[in-house]
Amino acid sequence: MVKILPEGRGGIHYENYSGQSIALDTVKCAVKIKKSRVPPTQFNEVLIRSNALTDRGFYQWAFYPGMLFLSRDRWWGNGGMRDRPHEGVDFCFYKDREGRINHVSDTPLAIPVLYEGTVVHLVEDYIGTSLFVLHDICDTNGNQLYTIYGHTDPSEGIRSGVAVREGSIIATIADAGKKKAKMSSHLHLSIAWISPAYPHERLDWKSLADHDRALLVNPLLFIDSTYTVLQYPSKI
Ligand SMILES: [Zn+2]
Repeated sequence: MVKILPEGRGGIHYENYSGQSIALDTVKCAVKIKKSRVPPTQFNEVLIRSNALTDRGFYQWAFYPGMLFLSRDRWWGNGGMRDRPHEGVDFCFYKDREGRINHVSDTPLAIPVLYEGTVVHLVEDYIGTSLFVLHDICDTNGNQLYTIYGHTDPSEGIRSGVAVREGSIIATIADAGKKKAKMSSHLHLSIAWISPAYPHERLDWKSLADHDRALLVNPLLFIDSTYTVLQYPSKI
């Protein structure tokens, strides 16, 4: 449980999970913004340009309801319910100008990073690798902004401690077939505010679901794109 303690020497302090107090003014932070908002991002534009999706007829993203933020549906396999609400958005399909639905893995999708930042942690997930990127952006409580890219093959040189420029390509989507995952290859994207008291090396999907540690944001609210919601077919 994170509690904001009364202001003391050195400014506001947070109580971290072991009860120690850390000074928020030690947190490096170039940009401070209001809680639960994030800065504008060119992510969608760069994603489309980097993958020449316009040449492939891209019109808009297409999601099954279970691919959307906080959905409880499993959109893969035989459906049913997720173990916990979806922590982000799954980019798997797009509609082309002819109205056809295309899969992003027709060519491996290159994934740009939303903002300038530092790769701080990599964890294996059931399709590929999840990349946790920390940005130099804090909310007014001192929580730090992270973007998380799931089910990827990291690009060469991408490892903990590496600085990344806004829009640079950090990975491609991993081939779900390789791990025999019962779902299609896709990019999972999460945006989260996380207390600086939480150690990078312990970041994982479970910690993102813990509301005492992370505040998740709906990526689609901050990605400049139209999208369509598809009806589930009998089999995905
Ligand atoms: Zn997902």
